[in-house]
Amino acid sequence: MPIQNNRLSHEELVHNFSDIHPPFEHEEGAIIEANRCINCYDAPCTKSCPTSIDVPMFIKQIASGNVKGSAKTILSSNIMGAGCSKVCPVEKLCEGSCVYNLLEEEPISIAKLQRYSTEKAIANNWKLFERKASNGKKVAVIGAGPAGLSCAHTLSLQGIDVTVYEKEEKGGGLMTYGVAAYKVTPTFCKEEVDYITSVGGIDIKYKQELGKDITLADLQKQYDAVFLGIGVGIARELEIPGEEMDGVVDAISFIYNLRTNDYSKIAVGDKVAVIGMGMTAIDAATQSKRLGAKEVTMIYRRTENEKPCTDVELDIAKLDGCSFIWLAAPKEVKGENGKVKQLVCSKMKLGEPDASGRRAPVDTGELFTIDVDMVIKAAGQIPFEDLVSKSSLQNKGGKIAIAASGETNIKGVFAGGDAVNGGKEVVDAVQAGKNGAKGILTYLGIK
Ligand SMILES: Cc1cc2nc3c(=O)[nH]c(=O)nc-3n(C[C@H](O)[C@H](O)[C@H](O)COP(=O)(O)OP(=O)(O)OC[C@H]3O[C@@H](n4cnc5c(N)ncnc54)[C@H](O)[C@@H]3O)c2cc1C
Ligand code: SF4
Repeated sequence: MPIQNNRLSHEELVHNFSDIHPPFEHEEGAIIEANRCINCYDAPCTKSCPTSIDVPMFIKQIASGNVKGSAKTILSSNIMGAGCSKVCPVEKLCEGSCVYNLLEEEPISIAKLQRYSTEKAIANNWKLFERKASNGKKVAVIGAGPAGLSCAHTLSLQGIDVTVYEKEEKGGGLMTYGVAAYKVTPTFCKEEVDYITSVGGIDIKYKQELGKDITLADLQKQYDAVFLGIGVGIARELEIPGEEMDGVVDAISFIYNLRTNDYSKIAVGDKVAVIGMGMTAIDAATQSKRLGAKEVTMIYRRTENEKPCTDVELDIAKLDGCSFIWLAAPKEVKGENGKVKQLVCSKMKLGEPDASGRRAPVDTGELFTIDVDMVIKAAGQIPFEDLVSKSSLQNKGGKIAIAASGETNIKGVFAGGDAVNGGKEVVDAVQAGKNGAKGILTYLGIK
């Protein structure tokens, strides 16, 4: 493995991983910002939010000093509104559609205002929701990630007793184990999960894995319905020679390690190459730099125009001092005594558009080599194909297929979130959990 991280002091590491989007320092700041909102009648911000939060309403409530009311407006649409205020790529969602952009002015800081109210709700444990009395129906939810928790909360409010089975020892899914450490802390994630379950009727059973400790058949016998919110699976291999060498890691494991250990215990190289240009690649690159890597080079097979990350995310990597090689694809990892030393890449050019509508990268056959002591693979994730394919669940390449109701091809078994969409954002998974819950309620004849 690359050398143990002892380049930075504890203080430097804490500083590097501190909150990237700090909250309002004073209440006046929030009220002044809230008063900038012109309350557009057609609310493009609400339309651009996958959970349809009534943004003008909650901002108006903040402006009038009704912070509790604003928290209720947000959390009624999105029970992970606090987490989303820290992790949503708002530049392509609510804030990206704010009319101030057309006037070439700064959009309203919707996420920061959302954070202002929802953090107060969690810190003060405001009881904003009342659960109906138990109606005797039982639902099993697999996965305590955003989709599973949102589904569990919606069902519990309607008097259903929900048991969540989670394979890890903490809830939150990728919020806890994947999202960059400078966006959300493990402490915040735990507080958010505790806040969600404080409504009652939700029992999370940790270290319980579907396919290992429990089976779908058993759950179907014990519960009236099942919701699968298992997320997307493992990291995609590069399938190039030398990939097995010491110092080649996948981004998901690297970040999982970072999220579950002391920063000073995370091994990072001096010269790191990151393969990919999605959000996970950016997070792996920026966090390597923040751990003390001297050089971090991001390698992407298309041009900046086709990059999957947003401009804001790319800017974070630029500001952190990462460098970029566009139109290049990894071909071989070379090393000495099993340890990575070099990465050989092919120069690419753009060809005709592919199925994604973007121009496809074409290998020119021209090679170049860079010196590295660590390679982080962030070329996407593949669904839990084994788990899904071994069951009789209908799927496409491991992604679970569902009907408009959220139901799979198996009666009473619903699914949503990354497991179905192949990997989007937290806010999409929260909405998918709500949709699944709605389908389950209809199925059980409750709503
Ligand atoms: C590195 C990285 C960074 C990201 N950064 C952001 C970001 O900044 N902003 C953003 O909005 N989105 C981000 N995302 C995407 C976001 O985290 C996901 O879209 C979201 O978490 C999906 O929610 P989910 O509930 O569908 O799945 P997950 O969050 O993956 O939750 C699934 C849960 O199911 C559990 N599970 C899986 N299999 C089983 C099983 N067999 N038995 C029991 N439990 C099981 C898992 O342990 C997990 O807790 C990021 C993703 C990654 C990988
Ligand atoms: S949940 Fe995300 S997208 Fe929706 S309003 Fe809040 S910050 Fe914007």
